[in-house]
Amino acid sequence: MSIKQLPSYLHGEHVGPWAIFLEQIDRVTPHLDQYAGWVDTLRRPKRCLIVDVPIRMDDGTVHHFEGYRVQHNISRGPGKGGVRYHPDVTLSEVMALAGWMTIKNAAVNLPYGGAKGGVRVDPQALSPAELERMTRRYTSEIGIIIGPEHDIPAPDVNTNEKIMAWMMDTYSMNVGATTPGVVTGKPVSLGGSLGRRDATGRGCYIVAREAMARIGMRMAGARVAIQGYGNVGNAAARAFHDAGARIVAVQDAGGTIHAPGGLDPHALCRHLDGGGALADFPGAGKIPQEDFWSVDCEVLLPAALENQITVANAGAIRARLLVEGANGPTAPQAEDILLDRGVLVVPDVLANAGGVTVSYFEWVQNSASYFWTEADIHDRLDRALTEAFRAIWQVAEDKRIPLRTAAFVVACARVLEARALRGLYP
Ligand code: NAD
Repeated sequence: MSIKQLPSYLHGEHVGPWAIFLEQIDRVTPHLDQYAGWVDTLRRPKRCLIVDVPIRMDDGTVHHFEGYRVQHNISRGPGKGGVRYHPDVTLSEVMALAGWMTIKNAAVNLPYGGAKGGVRVDPQALSPAELERMTRRYTSEIGIIIGPEHDIPAPDVNTNEKIMAWMMDTYSMNVGATTPGVVTGKPVSLGGSLGRRDATGRGCYIVAREAMARIGMRMAGARVAIQGYGNVGNAAARAFHDAGARIVAVQDAGGTIHAPGGLDPHALCRHLDGGGALADFPGAGKIPQEDFWSVDCEVLLPAALENQITVANAGAIRARLLVEGANGPTAPQAEDILLDRGVLVVPDVLANAGGVTVSYFEWVQNSASYFWTEADIHDRLDRALTEAFRAIWQVAEDKRIPLRTAAFVVACARVLEARALRGLYP
C-alpha cells in the first residue's frame, strides 16, 4: 500500500455520518493555528472494534448480531461515550458519534477522549431475556478495550439504566471484582449519581441563561418552545419554568400544544406520567404539527431527533435563540439561514453536554467511593457549563465565528495540544 493511501474505512460504503464529521474538521482547520499540523489525528479513529455477538434466542436458535466499539481519540483521557441499540447502526455512524464525543468532552473540558458503541439490533424485537443475553455477550466482547481507565460506556438511544447495570455486572464478573466505574448512567443503588437524570435538560437551561445574558434577553417571562418532552425536553422545561420563563409550546411524536400565556411543565409531566397524551393536556390548546416552528417565542429548544430544522422550516422560526438539546437537530444549510437572520445558535456539543458532565461526576464518585449530594451536583454542573460557555463565547467573539465553529476550535485545540505534548511513540 502506498503511504498516501487512505485506510479502507475512510472511503467506499463506510462514508455517511463519518463524512460529515470529516467536513466539520476541514472547516475548523484554518482556525487551529499552531495545532493545524496535528489535525490528521482527528481524521482517523484511534481504535475500531467490530465484534460478533452470537446469542441463543428463546426458541433455541442461535442469532448473530454485529457490535462495535470505537475509540476516536484518547489523548486527554479514557474514551467516553454511549452505546446505541438500533437496526440502522453502522461503523460509519459509530465512528462519527465517537468523533463528536471527542469534541463534546473537550469543549466542556472533561478529562476524557471520545468513544461510542453500538449493536445493529431492533431491541423491541427481543424478549427481556434475549436483550440481557445480548447485552452481556456484547459487553464481554468489548471487554478487551473498555474499563474505568480505558473507555467508559453510558446509555444512548434504546439503552438505559438497566442495561448499564447488566454491563457493569458482566464486566465485574469477568475481572473478578465489582467495578462500578466501568459504565455511567447506572441506577443510583449501584453507584449511579444523583442528578444524572435531569442533567442534560438542566444543562440546556444553564447555557441558554448564559446566552440570554449576553444578548440582553431577560429570563423572566421569556417564551420557550420545546420539541420533545422526553428525558431532555421535560427536565429543560421545568428548569426554564422554575427560573421564570414561560413554556408556550411543546411538541412530541404524537402532537403539538400551544399556550401563549405559558403552561405548567410539572403538571404536564404528571399528565404524561399518568398515561395522558400530550395533545389532551388541559392546560393548552392543540395546533397542527407544522405550526410548531412558527410559534412566537424567544427561545427554541429542539430536544427530540436529528435533522428537524431544515431549509423548509428555518425561515419560519421566530426565536432569537436556538438551543440544541438534541444531537444534530439543525441541518447545516438551515443553520446558515438562521445565522443570516441573526438567530444565535448554541450548538449540541455545548448545549446537551450536561449529561456527560454528570456522567463524569458519577465516574469520579465511583473512583473515590464517596457520593455527593444532589445540590452539590447541580452546583458543580452549573459551574462547569458556565465556564465552558464563557470560553467558547470568547473565541466566537475574538474570531468572529459562530458558536458551533468556536466550540470545535476550543475542543480541537485542547485535543491537539495534548496530542502535540505527548508526541509520537516511538
Ligand atoms: P427521549 O426518548 O426521552 O424523548 C424523545 C422525545 O422526542 C419524546 O417526547 C418523543 O415523543 C419526541 N419525538 C420523537 N419523535 C418526534 C417527532 N417526529 N416529532 C416531535 N417529537 C418527537 O429522548 P431524550 O433522551 O430526551 O433525547 C432527545 C435528544 O437529546 C436526542 O437527540 C438525544 O441524542 C439527545 N441527547 C440526550 C441526552 C440524555 O442525557 N438523554 C444527552 C445528550 C443528547
